[in-house]
Amino acid sequence: MARISFHDLAHAYGPAPSSPEHWALKPMTMTLEDGGAYALLGPSGCGKTTLLNLTSGLLTPTKGRIEFDRVDVTHKTPEERNIAQVFQFPVIYDTMTVYDNLAFPLRNRGVDEATVATRVKGIAGMLDLSSTLQKRASGLTADGKQKISLGRGLVRSDVNVIMFDEPLTVIDPHLKWELRSKLKELHQRIRRTMIYVTHDQTEALTFADKVVVMNDGQVVQIGTPVELFERPRHTFVGHFIGSPGMNLINCDVRDGKAVIGGGEVATENAAKYKGGARTLQLGIRPEFVKFSSEGLPVEVTKVADAGRFNIVSVQAGNQPLKLLVPQGAAIPSGSAKVAFDPARARIYADGWLVGDDARGAAQ
Ligand code: ATP
Repeated sequence: MARISFHDLAHAYGPAPSSPEHWALKPMTMTLEDGGAYALLGPSGCGKTTLLNLTSGLLTPTKGRIEFDRVDVTHKTPEERNIAQVFQFPVIYDTMTVYDNLAFPLRNRGVDEATVATRVKGIAGMLDLSSTLQKRASGLTADGKQKISLGRGLVRSDVNVIMFDEPLTVIDPHLKWELRSKLKELHQRIRRTMIYVTHDQTEALTFADKVVVMNDGQVVQIGTPVELFERPRHTFVGHFIGSPGMNLINCDVRDGKAVIGGGEVATENAAKYKGGARTLQLGIRPEFVKFSSEGLPVEVTKVADAGRFNIVSVQAGNQPLKLLVPQGAAIPSGSAKVAFDPARARIYADGWLVGDDARGAAQ
């Protein structure tokens, strides 16, 4: 197991990067604690695989340093880093039995057969593969094969980190939930450092203790699922996490107060705004907007049934806004007013949370 730290790490695929868009990964410094379950979450092209490949040693960074337990591994090979990696598609030997597939990473390192048997049976039990151990891997479904891949990643006890690159892509939708919970349970049992790459917020939030949110080659926030929901440091995090995502409304800040359409709106942090931003937005999650007798005038445009809640779309002037209204609660039609929970309404200047000391930093 290892504590992994990145120091001013950055990567560009082309030579001589000279402008921000040349960097697939922009300079970042962060530490992943020993034994933690982390997810790298972000849209396609944001740099997740680049960061994963830098960690595994498949790529050498353009600048910066990577340490495993304070030892510099930046120029070490993947073998020297001693990691296990599970890819999107199953990597298994079709002609071997399930048992031999799971045993392979251990036998490869000269582990004695008694230990191999104990570990293989343990992992097979955790992944519900026990009844298939003597079958050929070729006879298994895509789900079964990917379970073997997961098992091969998890079977060794000596790895520094186990990395999963979108491992549930080939899994049948109804089994995804089961395997996600299984992985979480496995992490709790074996307490190895794990990094799970995904663009799916549900996968990230169910698996990880801490989620590293990336956008456009940049780490924008590291936090627990609750922190990302409660206090997004960047509008991207607010919008990307949550369903529907955080509302963003263009606003002004005058004398330390947020102003929308000429009316003042109480927020948690407008008083901390020091000026100079190109764009100012108020961020508020749909959960914390309510219909009210006093507040921002809106027009109700749509009501969508989402089970326990209705998602209500309104327009505040030319700005769209969503509310989550519990099933059974009254929903006005036409003109109405909405109020924001002041403790949950926050001002973002050029995308970043106003008054946040760790602006843009990934620690
Ligand atoms: P996805 O979810 O689609 O795999 P990602 O978040 O993993 O995306 P990366 O694959 O790390 O993103 O890509 C980050 C950026 O680097 C993208 O702009 C991509 O086009 C670019 N990139 C990735 N691999 C290479 C490469 N081998 N050569 C040049 N550019 C690359």
